[in-house]
Amino acid sequence: MAEHTCHAQNCTRTIHPSLLMCGKHWRMVSQPTQRLVWKHFRPGQEVDKQPSRESVEAMRRAIREVAEQEQLPLFDHGNHTMRTQ
Ligand SMILES: [Zn+2]
Repeated sequence: MAEHTCHAQNCTRTIHPSLLMCGKHWRMVSQPTQRLVWKHFRPGQEVDKQPSRESVEAMRRAIREVAEQEQLPLFDHGNHTMRTQ
């Protein structure tokens, strides 16, 4: 069984497959968004990798809220461009 880790940016904590984030990060998600994630969560979507579009959007929203609170850039790629001038 593949390891399932917290979906928050830069977090590698292993969590239960039915959870989106570790406890620390989940607590940083606003209540309305938490409810949205649970509302659209379908048991087994982590296994068949076919979450509904609503579910994906709710999860993205939760991940973005955590990134904003931690003041991390949401996409941490290609951010090492050197200044040439
Ligand atoms: Zn985490």
